[in-house]
Amino acid sequence: MAKRDYYDVLGIDKKADDSEIKKAYRKLALKYHPDKNPDDKEAEEKFKEAAEAYEVLRDAQKRQRYDQYGHAGVGGAAGGGFGGGFSGGGMSMEDIFEQFGDIFGGHFGGGGFGGQRGGRRVNRGSNLRVKVKLTLEEIAKGVTKKIKVNKYVACEECNGTGAEKGAGFSTCSTCNGQGRVTRISNTILGQMQTTSTCPTCGGEGKTIQHKCKKCYGDGVVKGEEVIEINIPAGVSSEMQLSVNGKGNAAPRGGIPGDLIVLIEEMEHEHLKRDGSNVYYDLFISFTDAALGTSIDVPTIDGKARIKIEPGTQPGKVLRLRGKGLPDVHAYGNGDQLVNVNVWTPKKLSSEEKKILEKLRDSENFKPAPDKSDKGFFEKMKDYFH
Ligand SMILES: [Zn+2]
Ligand SMILES: [Zn+2]
Repeated sequence: MAKRDYYDVLGIDKKADDSEIKKAYRKLALKYHPDKNPDDKEAEEKFKEAAEAYEVLRDAQKRQRYDQYGHAGVGGAAGGGFGGGFSGGGMSMEDIFEQFGDIFGGHFGGGGFGGQRGGRRVNRGSNLRVKVKLTLEEIAKGVTKKIKVNKYVACEECNGTGAEKGAGFSTCSTCNGQGRVTRISNTILGQMQTTSTCPTCGGEGKTIQHKCKKCYGDGVVKGEEVIEINIPAGVSSEMQLSVNGKGNAAPRGGIPGDLIVLIEEMEHEHLKRDGSNVYYDLFISFTDAALGTSIDVPTIDGKARIKIEPGTQPGKVLRLRGKGLPDVHAYGNGDQLVNVNVWTPKKLSSEEKKILEKLRDSENFKPAPDKSDKGFFEKMKDYFH
């Protein structure tokens, strides 16, 4: 099913600022909160959809990518959105409460998901960066790339928990599972209260009774994963896409990091790219320039036949409309510009020399530019403005 536009999901304008985004999300999250809508699948879906939209739009970088590329820019994993790391097609309820629990404030503080985990630290996997090399042909159409990534993955032995099978966890006795410790000390100004992360459990609120022997309690091990990345048409070098949840797995079942994909454009054999236009240098003989001809030139999608008019001057630029690349910011394709160079022979046989010497003094071989033969400066103005 096609994903809805994130701005539509939150019911906000494309120009909404951070506080409007947060307000809109909070309103929806409270409306569809599972405590208010027990066993209501539709409310749960709406609750998740709003969280996914908020997860992207609250982050300036992700929002920018979303504005540019749509859903592909923020969840490039094939199979959609928050694939992989998060459970299947979307964020799980746990992810949502771990990430955005504080947005509910006092409303659901007492129990359920929200309050239970208040104060505890959630592990986050680090982001991974990979480079993907693309040909102009791939950039023109958009492409799905499968890449193998070395990364931390959840330990299979313990299902990513870090605890030996059957051994489980015990609530941290130092902080009673709160993840924080509060100390009260008497000073001359009266009692002082300080709260800090629990030193025993590192803020997780629980300790492992017997550590998994494979991952030594980390819940993650070094491994690899083949990841499919959907790359939209029209990207260019130095652009970055991110695939949510496809970075390193987090220790002991936290939230995985993102996979950041850096685009690198490979050089084309014949064509040079500038934005959404491509350039091609064509060389023709001066007899072809004088007599006119038809000639094949390479384009991104195969060859195109172009006509050279009789009397074509060197430096003439021909425009093949729509033969460039799609623009990621707009509709439609750029053009291919063909720069016509007239090739002067570097070696001549004595017979060729004789023919040319006969022509040297003929009237039509003397340069006589008129108004239709634009100079270099005019041509540049025509094609670059
Ligand atoms: Zn393990
Ligand atoms: Zn503790």
